Amino acid sequence: MNTFSRRLLIWTRLALGFVLLLAAIVWATFRVKGLTVIRVDRTTIELMRSPAVLDQPAATPAPEQLPRNIVVFIADGLGFSHLAAARAAHHGIDGPAAWDRFPVTGWHRASPAGGFLTDSAASATALATGMTTGNGMVGVDTAGRPRTTLFERATELGYRTGIVTDSYVWDATPAAFVTHTESRNNAAEILRQLGETSLDVLFGELKNVGEGEVPDWDATVALLQRRFEVVGPEPVGLDELLAAADPPVAPAAGAPVAAIFEEDQLTDLESTPTLPLLVRAALDRLKPGPFVLMVESEEPDSASHRMDLDRLLRGMQAIEATLDVVLDFADQHGDTLVVFTSDHETGGLVVSVSDSSNRSLRALWATSSHTGVSVPVMAIGPASELFAGSRANWQLGRLLAGLLRTQEPADAADSESADTTVPELTDSEQSAPQ
Ligand SMILES: [Zn+2]
Repeated sequence: MNTFSRRLLIWTRLALGFVLLLAAIVWATFRVKGLTVIRVDRTTIELMRSPAVLDQPAATPAPEQLPRNIVVFIADGLGFSHLAAARAAHHGIDGPAAWDRFPVTGWHRASPAGGFLTDSAASATALATGMTTGNGMVGVDTAGRPRTTLFERATELGYRTGIVTDSYVWDATPAAFVTHTESRNNAAEILRQLGETSLDVLFGELKNVGEGEVPDWDATVALLQRRFEVVGPEPVGLDELLAAADPPVAPAAGAPVAAIFEEDQLTDLESTPTLPLLVRAALDRLKPGPFVLMVESEEPDSASHRMDLDRLLRGMQAIEATLDVVLDFADQHGDTLVVFTSDHETGGLVVSVSDSSNRSLRALWATSSHTGVSVPVMAIGPASELFAGSRANWQLGRLLAGLLRTQEPADAADSESADTTVPELTDSEQSAPQ
């Protein structure tokens, strides 16, 4: 090899090395950027609201497949990780939990009109009316117009109705099923409307009594007494709840009754009374139906806003005990549909382990607020198969509305004699979420 050829080879090797070095630098730079430099909080993604796709129209099962009674159980703030934490802590990793009794499972996504993160008011309104609305709004559309709720439709069709919550009775979730106002903070207005509802049962707490917009205790009782026999807040047992308004003046199961308790009186199974006891009393007063009952547990939301795993687990025990009451009732009355779900996830809860032993549960909270992840839906009973799979929360509301049917007068009805007309949603109620 002559000198020229040797030099050419050296220069070629040098050039190749330089190109390789340059490539390595470029690759490393982009790789580091991809992993560490580009942060989510620097990236603003404009949210898209796709036009409503009515891929899952309101349910129209055969009349004989419609449920006689409907129980909607909303665990406020509950996500899949909340279920995982409760199972691991209370039943062992593979142990059966109360919600394993549901044969039908799915999930729903909940976003309000004009945004991604929902609050309880907008999500409960979607579940109650089949329509998306803005955060803070209760039983109204984005323009503030009242929308017919599941409960109002049920009352028109001859159902008895009840609400049981371990939160306050004028809280956004119960309020969205029976009242209409542009702000969940309008306590006086919500309480006034509660006294004008057709509810047969209303069990829950009072909060901030006498402060700001909230009427004092006596004023609240006076508002509720326009509709209900009012008992509470001293510890009330099952007997007292069942005997309230005795002798009964309304059909079968007695006059409308409201039981109201102090703030934070109803939190876990140490409470007096407990959520499962109140639900037992409500089912007893509403049976034999037909009825629609909404049960709410606020504990997953309350505990997760505080990032408090212990409180969450105590609340989950109360939820499981309540599920057992409801599911035992559904077992005994096969004509009862039970839908167990949530309105949104709170806390961004992640469940992991605390050390290398891999035996101690550790909760990681991403936020003290709500998140936008999908939440569980479970169902059992007639038409429960419709609740499988993935939906938006307003689609669940539409499904529920489609399961109501015209009823005989309550004192004459039994499950065989009921008329089975499925109500049609009006055009305005089929409008797309906004
Ligand atoms: Zn919340």
